[in-house]
Amino acid sequence: MKLGFTPEEEAFRAEAVAWLQAELSGPFADLRGITSLTAAPDRRRAWERRLGEARWGCIGWPEAYGGRDATLAEQVIFAEEYARAGAPPRLNHIGVELAGPTILAFGSDEQKARLLPPIARGEQLWCQGYSEPNAGSDLANVRTRAWRDGGDWVIEGQKVWTSLAQFSDWIFVVARTEPGSKGPKGLSFLLVPIDQPGVTVRPIRQITGDAEFNETFFDGARTAAANILGEPGQGWQVAMALLGFERGVSTLAQQMGFRNELDAVIRAAKTNGAARDPLIRQRIAKAEIGLRLMRYGALRMLSGGTGGAVEAAALTYKIQWASWRRSLGELAIDVLGIAGEIGEGADYGFGELSTLFLYSRADTIYGGTNQIQRNIIAERALGLPREPRGDIG
Ligand SMILES: Cc1cc2nc3c(=O)[nH]c(=O)nc-3n(C[C@H](O)[C@H](O)[C@H](O)COP(=O)(O)OP(=O)(O)OC[C@H]3O[C@@H](n4cnc5c(N)ncnc54)[C@H](O)[C@@H]3O)c2cc1C
Repeated sequence: MKLGFTPEEEAFRAEAVAWLQAELSGPFADLRGITSLTAAPDRRRAWERRLGEARWGCIGWPEAYGGRDATLAEQVIFAEEYARAGAPPRLNHIGVELAGPTILAFGSDEQKARLLPPIARGEQLWCQGYSEPNAGSDLANVRTRAWRDGGDWVIEGQKVWTSLAQFSDWIFVVARTEPGSKGPKGLSFLLVPIDQPGVTVRPIRQITGDAEFNETFFDGARTAAANILGEPGQGWQVAMALLGFERGVSTLAQQMGFRNELDAVIRAAKTNGAARDPLIRQRIAKAEIGLRLMRYGALRMLSGGTGGAVEAAALTYKIQWASWRRSLGELAIDVLGIAGEIGEGADYGFGELSTLFLYSRADTIYGGTNQIQRNIIAERALGLPREPRGDIG
């Protein structure tokens, strides 16, 4: 196992650090330290375009589509330095980490040439239209339907929890295209432009005070026939491959962000005296150990050789980091004590650590709940019998 990076990788790190420092203490200094997913959207759109111009936007993609052909280790290094520099959350996270890799895996040459460069240039932002009121973990239960009308697909239905839809230009939609089909059969994966009369996006206010996610309604929305990814009826396979990207290796680099958060908790505990409480000290030590274990786990996966091995090991990773961060949120609120429960402003005005507590409740839900992750580990990694499913026989 290799517990570090090569000199070439460290040179790559130095290049990334220099660029991030120059931008975030220069033209984009106002974005440094922003953690809210919805703050300063216009400036963050400009930041996405700047990343694209300098080809730091989608470094893992092939050069032909605006990437750098970066290795997995280089992608992790860049993400680490991105977090260390206090750069803002990526407004186009879903385009870069989810839509792009899925288009690379399933798109035709025409689709790749047309759809990928605008994402890499930071010009087109994407969101994910999977969940519905009765289809979250049970994604195969989607009711949104679509049918062919001449050269178009027409879409009717509702999605929910659509993160960042209010800023997005495109949405990928899992829709039922074979009437009467059930479960994972008869679904298709459609790419749909949002700015049209048939799509309505309505933000949902969250407990953090932010409104990151939305209800998204399709009322006769249209997309060209060419905007289907994979074949009609192959939507389930495409959707599952995308979830592999969402839960897997793209999350290996989160630790630097987690490091920043744990450091903020430790600072608060030292400042307000909570660090004198032996139980709080133990929990901080446990959080530190958990973070180091995740770091070593990530390095082990990175040095593990083939992409396939990384994918298999990464199955365990979603549940690990989500549970760790949820505990960190609980620790943060206990460190703050009563101060964590008092808003600083008239409306929602929670400080950074209170917001961390509230947001971290969602980590064990989105991208697949902890219970679903356990099913996945049981079935795909350990080869245990599949959970019985009444609807698909
Ligand atoms: C912050 C946030 C952002 C999100 N962003 C998006 C987005 O951009 N696009 C999008 O499409 N969706 C998004 N989601 C939705 C997310 O993917 C769903 O919330 C998630 O899939 C769980 O579905 P659900 O909420 O319907 O819960 P349910 O599926 O109703 O689950 C309720 C409970 O039952 C358990 N459960 C369900 N089935 C099983 C089973 N078979 N075995 C064991 N336990 C089970 C679950 O684990 C959970 O504890 C987001 C969610 C959050 C919280």
